[in-house]
Amino acid sequence: MAKVNLAELKDSASSRFPLGRVHSLESMGTVDGPGIRFVVFVQGCPMRCAYCHNPDTWALDAGTPVSVEHIVELFESNRQFYKSGGITVSGGEPLLQPEFLAALFGEMHVRPHGSVHTCLDSCGYAYTPEHPERFAPVLDETDLVLLDIKHADPAGHKALTGRSPERILAFGDELARRGIDVIIRHVVVPGYTDTEEECEQLGRLIAPWHNVVGLEMLPYHTMGVAKYEQLGMAYPLEGVEPMGKTRIPALRRAVLRGMKAGRAGA
Ligand code: SF4
Repeated sequence: MAKVNLAELKDSASSRFPLGRVHSLESMGTVDGPGIRFVVFVQGCPMRCAYCHNPDTWALDAGTPVSVEHIVELFESNRQFYKSGGITVSGGEPLLQPEFLAALFGEMHVRPHGSVHTCLDSCGYAYTPEHPERFAPVLDETDLVLLDIKHADPAGHKALTGRSPERILAFGDELARRGIDVIIRHVVVPGYTDTEEECEQLGRLIAPWHNVVGLEMLPYHTMGVAKYEQLGMAYPLEGVEPMGKTRIPALRRAVLRGMKAGRAGA
């Protein structure tokens, strides 16, 4: 992990593209897509996941304006490290800034020393199915999406994230229609998303998406608690113990079982 100091960035006012509202930059990311990646964490998120470990990314009016050109320059200065990786935009929720995202991914695809693999890490909630044209330029330039499905059941989703899942599922449908590779991510939270029933239901939900190329079951952890303390916020999952990896294989099998049943029409 190597954080880039945003304060050292030059004035971005002369950019040809819309500026991004950025929370932080990570030059050696290893968990947000394949290989070693340059990761842009954008500012702003409309969800309120109870287990969010980055509540400091929520505010829509915070963050540092950063230009596409600066990010490209930083990427190029370490290009040799990203041979098997690329660039990821995470958050916060990147789809809140589709124009910036489209410009950044578009630039990464036309680099003189070779096209760069682009990955979008999204919860999908900012997608508006009534205006898919707003997101077409981003998706035209996106090679892989890490799509978080927080809860398979609509009521459970609302309880865990404060939001309904319809737009997220519509985003998943759009990715499937376009045939963009998707890795589904599901955080397994004790007492919320750790039953075989819920995981099977998740499998049925994603069964129609034949573009799903991977599934990551992420055990809940409490690493974000300190941030809530720093921000003077109450931690919503106070008392929920971190989850070990022991039950993950069985829950993963439950998702795959659900997918198989869904595809068989059972
Ligand atoms: S979508 Fe991500 S950034 Fe937004 S609240 Fe949920 S975990 Fe946090």
